[in-house]
Amino acid sequence: MGVRLTILGSGTSHGVPMIGCECAVCMSDDPHDHRTRCSAAFTFNDHTLLIDTAPELRLQCLANDIRVAHGVAYTHHHADHVVGLDDVRRFNWLLQAAFPVYAEAPTMTRLRQMFEYAFVNDPTYPSAKPELDPRLLDGPFAFAGRDVIPIRIMHGPLPVVGFRVGAVAYLPDCNQIPSGSRAALADLDALVLDALRIRPHPTHFNLEQAVETAEQIGAARTYFTHIAHELGHAATNASLPTGMQLAYDGLRIESD
Ligand SMILES: [Zn+2]
Ligand SMILES: [Zn+2]
Ligand SMILES: [Zn+2]
Repeated sequence: MGVRLTILGSGTSHGVPMIGCECAVCMSDDPHDHRTRCSAAFTFNDHTLLIDTAPELRLQCLANDIRVAHGVAYTHHHADHVVGLDDVRRFNWLLQAAFPVYAEAPTMTRLRQMFEYAFVNDPTYPSAKPELDPRLLDGPFAFAGRDVIPIRIMHGPLPVVGFRVGAVAYLPDCNQIPSGSRAALADLDALVLDALRIRPHPTHFNLEQAVETAEQIGAARTYFTHIAHELGHAATNASLPTGMQLAYDGLRIESD
């Protein structure tokens, strides 16, 4: 079996529709325009590795028939990517084990601050908290018999990571890919890349920058994610070059 990447959430931090917005995309009937917060799951060798834990993690697992996950690797600590962490309690129960959490040191520090109750032994909070197995991320790691390769990308001034498994790379939240990371993005079957909106943004690629970067990387297929309400699914896709499309919640990308 190859590698599957499931897009659990394709939206930016507010989600789409946004609360209190009546724009055409937020009011759209097209289910592709309904975007939960940005996260994904790699599945291979009968194991699932979450990439980030969005606020809708439980709903995303139910919607995508993810019955169990075996670990999570974090791209960075921003709230839209982490606040669903409490939902991994279900995987503790299903696996009867602590849940592996892969994160770079600065991200792990933030997780310990944001989810202090999960990391400390507090007799007043004795149950119903996630049991975590923190693993510092400082390079490729083996997971279920394959290498998971973190790829350094820049999210404005913040160094964050994306991940590659096999010939599939997932790079949300970025507006620059350092030259030193380009070699790790060669020969991709599928690339998922940040593309927030049309207008420029200080920490995310806009669509034009994302297309240009995707052309440089040259994956066989490219999907854009972390999408704001300014980009309608059908209209944007009609404008994109061959081999490039917007991702959507529930998209499954399969590769050998
Ligand atoms: Zn809107
Ligand atoms: Zn972010
Ligand atoms: Zn984000």
